Amino acid sequence: MSEVVRTRFAPSPTGFMHIGNLRTALYSYLIARAGHGQFILRIEDTDQERLVPGAVDVILKTLKMTGLDYDEGPDIGGPNGPYIQSERKPIYQKYAKELVDKGYAYYCFCSEERLKSLHDANGIGGYDRHCRWLSKEEVEAHLKNGDPYVIRQKIPLEGTTTYHDEVFGDISMENKEMQDQILLKADGFPTYNFAHVIDDHLMNITYVVRGSEYLTSTPKYVLLYDAFGWERPHYVHLPLLMGQNPDGTTSKLSKRHGAVSFQDLVNMGYLPDAIVNYIAFLGWSPKDSDQEIFSLDELKKVFSIDGIGKSASVFDYEKLKWFNSEYIKKLPEEEFEAKTLPMLKEVCPDYVDVKKLAGLLHSRVDTLNEVKDKVGFITERLPMDLSLYTNKKNKTTPESCGKILKDVLPRLEALTDWNNDSLFALLKGYATEAGIKAGAVMWAVRIAVARQAVTPGGATELMEVLGRDESLSRIEQAVKEIEEA
Ligand code: GLU
Repeated sequence: MSEVVRTRFAPSPTGFMHIGNLRTALYSYLIARAGHGQFILRIEDTDQERLVPGAVDVILKTLKMTGLDYDEGPDIGGPNGPYIQSERKPIYQKYAKELVDKGYAYYCFCSEERLKSLHDANGIGGYDRHCRWLSKEEVEAHLKNGDPYVIRQKIPLEGTTTYHDEVFGDISMENKEMQDQILLKADGFPTYNFAHVIDDHLMNITYVVRGSEYLTSTPKYVLLYDAFGWERPHYVHLPLLMGQNPDGTTSKLSKRHGAVSFQDLVNMGYLPDAIVNYIAFLGWSPKDSDQEIFSLDELKKVFSIDGIGKSASVFDYEKLKWFNSEYIKKLPEEEFEAKTLPMLKEVCPDYVDVKKLAGLLHSRVDTLNEVKDKVGFITERLPMDLSLYTNKKNKTTPESCGKILKDVLPRLEALTDWNNDSLFALLKGYATEAGIKAGAVMWAVRIAVARQAVTPGGATELMEVLGRDESLSRIEQAVKEIEEA
């Protein structure tokens, strides 16, 4: 029987979900689902100084909004809990002591001052392994005395440690390059370096999926597995995530490149499904296909580790916009309305038919928030630039438009059913009668009611949105402006 695939997402609760972390969650999730395995959520909060209130909720909410459902986790429990590291403190203590007994770790009683004295002016310098050589009696005396201690990993002094990464291949490190890192801190909490190894083993994680910043520390982790005699998991380190700098270079994706948290992107009007689809491509691509739009369900079927590349991916905000506009177009009308009507109602005067307006905007925005940017000409009358009436294709000028507007105004006033179809029929009828191109009439009316050149929707659609009184009033004003020019 083939091995069960169990992956985990193990975020530290920092208060926001960086896009890079969400990508880790997504890939980890997809590897589990593609392998018909399980996906586990674990909260890594052993760095008590960095705790942020409410941060766990941000993680839970993000996973919910993106549809990354997990099989075990802090809020739903499971057979391998607890799933919050701070609740597992005694477990780590037990295993740290086991390593000491086996000779793979040791107590270190060095004081802050002593450790500081080992560093140069820039704070650089490693631990000199002073306590590694304490005799059994010395250690016992310290412990008896109640001296504070940390437990450090005893890294072999010679040789090389190698592990296999599914993306980056074999990674080797000379043991003499590695520090005797702290496993258990003086406050009794484990370091990340120790806790995650213990948890990944106890939670039967078979694929460790995370960012490539852990690529070079993983030799230390595999030494821990080996020391315990545990089977190493598969490692899947994900390529770096970069942002584009104004000078064309790239650097690690950060706030100076733009929004980098999931929540910020959502607040800017990006849809969770579009974000997920886009970030799936930040380091992965499907085999033999140039399909770009994938639902999460489709990704679950096609995702595979061998589609993950080594080279850094650059976060492209324009590409995300494109994905988002595609997802917005796919939204059912009612859903688009539910997401945009509150915004439109907030900015539009009462006479505006916001539902109709939403209909016009649906296929024309890249982000939900853009609806607000696009309706300035609806919410107020912009200053008029008469040259807008001049249009080559329709052969219109301010004068010819002035005549058209004057002609159609009484007809519009007499119209009983103010809707797009009737308005269209009326203007078209007038054009035929007057022997002019329908395009010219539409142009004149559209400029008169919108007072700008580019609009979401044509003349009659805009009149329907603005309603009878406002439309007529705008046309009257336009007639006057042209006459007075
Ligand atoms: N808590 C670590 C982080 O948020 C997890 C790294 C890992 O997945 O092992 O970066």
